[in-house]
Amino acid sequence: MLLLWLLPWSAQAASPTMGQDFLLLGGATDEVTPQRACAPDVLARHQEVLSIPSPQQGWSGKPQAVDVFGVLTGEVRISHGDREICGSMHDARTRDSRFRAGVGLVVVPEAGNHEPIVVSWTRPLKPRWVPTIQLGAPSPVQQNDTARLLMRAACIAVAIALALSALMGWVTTRDRSFLVYVGACVVFVLWQAVLGGLSGYPEPWLPVHEHASWWLVALSACSEALLLPILWRLNGGDRRWPRSRPAQYAVLWGLMAMGLTVPLWGPDGLAVVSELLEWFFMAGCVLCLGAGLWGLSRRDAYALRGLLALAPWWIMIVADAFNAQWLVAYRIEALQLSTTWFLMMAAYALNLRLGRLRRQRDEMRQLADTDMLTGLPNRRAGLRLLAEYLEQARREPMPLSIGFLDIDLFKDINDQFGHERGDQVLVAVARALRGAVRNQDNVIRMGGEEFLVLLPGAGHAAAVARLETVRQQVATVAQGLGIHGLRVSASIGLAVLKPGSDDLAGLLRRADHAMYCAKRNGRNQIHDGERTTTAGDPLPA
Ligand code: GH3
Ligand code: MG
Ligand code: MG
Repeated sequence: MLLLWLLPWSAQAASPTMGQDFLLLGGATDEVTPQRACAPDVLARHQEVLSIPSPQQGWSGKPQAVDVFGVLTGEVRISHGDREICGSMHDARTRDSRFRAGVGLVVVPEAGNHEPIVVSWTRPLKPRWVPTIQLGAPSPVQQNDTARLLMRAACIAVAIALALSALMGWVTTRDRSFLVYVGACVVFVLWQAVLGGLSGYPEPWLPVHEHASWWLVALSACSEALLLPILWRLNGGDRRWPRSRPAQYAVLWGLMAMGLTVPLWGPDGLAVVSELLEWFFMAGCVLCLGAGLWGLSRRDAYALRGLLALAPWWIMIVADAFNAQWLVAYRIEALQLSTTWFLMMAAYALNLRLGRLRRQRDEMRQLADTDMLTGLPNRRAGLRLLAEYLEQARREPMPLSIGFLDIDLFKDINDQFGHERGDQVLVAVARALRGAVRNQDNVIRMGGEEFLVLLPGAGHAAAVARLETVRQQVATVAQGLGIHGLRVSASIGLAVLKPGSDDLAGLLRRADHAMYCAKRNGRNQIHDGERTTTAGDPLPA
């Protein structure tokens, strides 16, 4: 991608006709920076007017920046003398380009002038959502504006990054929680974009226009629909009260339906819905807090995480009750940071879940591949290993031998000493086999009292030597178990891979056949299908 992107640039740089020391982009223009004056119908809707008086001795003659934040719907008008600007949060084109987080204007009143700066706006949906107006020297006001813009954009960027990582999680696990999380991130990104005005930056990319109230209420309802059930789960409510599940789904789908039908509610209905949402959210936070504290009193480790995710929302609820100035001034940033914190805590919980799923999968794989009695790889795992060795031997010619081992007269051991002793013998034989081979060799329990020894890299002579060690070790098992009258020995069939002509089934068949030859020849020996290579004391037939 980087190369593709660099290609045209490098081609230009290499072009002999260009030969420039610098690159000039764009061209001269006659275009006037769009600073829209206010339309009469917009002004007619401005019920709120604030006059910012000049200092007592009049304005100093220095530039004055006015920045208005938090007017979520409708347009804001800032005027002084014949200078005026009208702009909306959701359309960066209508605003002064020096102010991005709010609607701003720089005026330069004459020294001694007493005319006030007038700001007017449409009454917001919620009476408590009063705008913040910042007045001062252009530089600090713009710096504050930029800092707010960066914070809002950063919160959205974090949500997008978390969504992408959750998407990867879903691709690897196909677990539905990851998709729910991605969906929640998408809703929260849209909600934050409308809330912070980034839906209009640098050009409007959401059709918000004059429907900002709709968008805000609809996205608030959808965000709440996801936020509350997730907070409930994070606080352990779901585990402690599994019967709350239908209620969770009712909340989820009820709020979603409320959000999606917002255009039908009309302006008055919208205010009611918005108020309802707020009360509902507070009730949800009380329930989640209750669940979290209950969990904490029971020393539930999950509860602390849930309470941490909940904490910023409670700080805001309490600050709102006390009418805290910082919250009035930075409400949008506070909401976005709380959302980001919540998404991070939920991502943490999701990662723990991913770890749990991986561990479960590994355990299941381990269980599926292991013989429970001896702890050795089972037939399934063994055949897979053998197929891998065969593939390797085919790629880089190397010798490969296998030994098919069957305990002699094992039925008699069971009959004489009992099944439990028989099991002990199997475990002891498995241990002896593991001890007799090298690290790179494998011992597999094929089933019953049959084992397979894989000897990668071993030709006929090396395999006979190693299998003889195995046979001798098996012969010591009875002594190790200390069971009077017990005798344990094994017959081993050896098959060496014939390069080019052998497949897995053929190799196993030859080893099996060789093992039966060993049995017929008196047991307690190694047979390669043609002759007995090494043998211990013969057993009675
Ligand atoms: P041979 O020397 O011809 O192989 O005689 P054998 O008695 O070993 O052969 P056979 O196949 O007749 O008997 C195998 C016995 O192994 C029968 C079965 O009850 C026993 N067996 C199979 N799996 C287990 C097990 O997990 N535990 C115990 N204790 N016995 C088992
Ligand atoms: Mg057998
Ligand atoms: Mg046997």
